[in-house]
Amino acid sequence: MLNFDLSHEQQLIYSYGDSLAREFDRKYWMACAEKKAFPAEMYRKIAADGFLGLMVSERYGGSGLGMLEAALFSEGMSNNGIPMLSLVVGATMSMSPIDKFGTEAQKQRFLPDCCQGKIRFCFAITEPNAGTNTMAATTFAREQGGKFLLSGQKVFITDAGDSDYALVVTRTTPLAEVRKKSDGFTLFIVDMKAPGISLQYIPVSVQVPEKQWLVFFDNVELSPDDVLGEVGRGFELLFDSLNPERILVAAMAVGLGRFALGKAVAYAAERRLFNNVPIGAYQGLQHPLAIAKAEIEMAALMTHKAAWAYDHGVPAGEFSNMAKYYAAEAACHAVDAAIQCFGGNGFTKEYGIFDLYPLVRLFRTGPINREMLLNFIAEHVMGMPRSY
Ligand SMILES: Cc1cc2nc3c(=O)[nH]c(=O)nc-3n(C[C@H](O)[C@H](O)[C@H](O)COP(=O)(O)OP(=O)(O)OC[C@H]3O[C@@H](n4cnc5c(N)ncnc54)[C@H](O)[C@@H]3O)c2cc1C
Repeated sequence: MLNFDLSHEQQLIYSYGDSLAREFDRKYWMACAEKKAFPAEMYRKIAADGFLGLMVSERYGGSGLGMLEAALFSEGMSNNGIPMLSLVVGATMSMSPIDKFGTEAQKQRFLPDCCQGKIRFCFAITEPNAGTNTMAATTFAREQGGKFLLSGQKVFITDAGDSDYALVVTRTTPLAEVRKKSDGFTLFIVDMKAPGISLQYIPVSVQVPEKQWLVFFDNVELSPDDVLGEVGRGFELLFDSLNPERILVAAMAVGLGRFALGKAVAYAAERRLFNNVPIGAYQGLQHPLAIAKAEIEMAALMTHKAAWAYDHGVPAGEFSNMAKYYAAEAACHAVDAAIQCFGGNGFTKEYGIFDLYPLVRLFRTGPINREMLLNFIAEHVMGMPRSY
């Protein structure tokens, strides 16, 4: 039987963003974004309220909850225009894999401090030359005398400059020597202050407080204790993180779309141009907003379904890819319809509508582009042949 009810706890998690936004609202968040300053006070508050480690086991300082709760949290924050990319790269892509696959020592060492917001992680997979084709990644950790020496480059790494650690996807066996393309990868926990790491800031036109960085690794010394999971089997861990990342980004897109629509509806009810009729009465304005609303709520449903599947051990790839694809499209449509509704004010800093567009547009490209999501649906859901 389908059950769409949320438990009392899930409702509280969903509405947390509403209460957080009373103290740290979109204006605060945008001020951080414009200064490119990490929203440290807000992050501390989220940590103090126990929301950083939603999916981390209780014995390591987390809440021991599931993907659905994490998605509801992210959606609720974004409903208020405060999407946190660092919670995706830190909380989902890094803390959860450590909780699931880390050694006892790694869990003790990193998770409690992460949950309390004392340390942050970034997640480094994208490379300048490999791009979407992760299998062609060349960042390499060479084993030598019981240690590993890491060399290579990662690009667009969110929050790398301010993070204490990075979860880095590397090859430990060259592509030419593996049986399967996804073999020979290893995930390392890398101290960002280690000798041999240098960073180059990449200015991007997306209004978020977290900065993006080009990260260079030059013979960075790592120990076997820094390996997450098993050497050569990093892709198995990675596969486990991809659906959660897609679900969280879908939840963010859904929330941001709702935020834009809420602002547009309020504005359209106030603004009167002809015969004292509010512009919100014009069907030419109503319909794009109504279409976007329908799309956003459908995307929300698929996002929740994907999260539910993940939590219940049901294969979640189909739903996660559909949710991420559709939520990004719906959010773009919602923000675009909202911009139109605001006329010239849609482009002013004061009304802050256009500022929403770059981020929702980014979700069509990253963390995975829409073409790869459609490739997945065509090949894995519909059984069509692979083109690449
Ligand atoms: C603001 C921002 C934050 C980011 N944060 C992180 C981060 O924290 N960590 C991290 O590792 N990465 C991060 N990224 C990187 C991001 O995930 C990549 O930019 C994205 O995956 C696309 O890779 P690419 O830029 O190399 O594009 P390319 O791989 O060069 O692809 C270009 C385009 O080609 C098309 N394309 C590619 N392959 C196919 C195919 N097989 N079929 C059809 N079309 C295809 C797509 O339209 C794609 O957009 C971030 C990027 C940005 C802009």
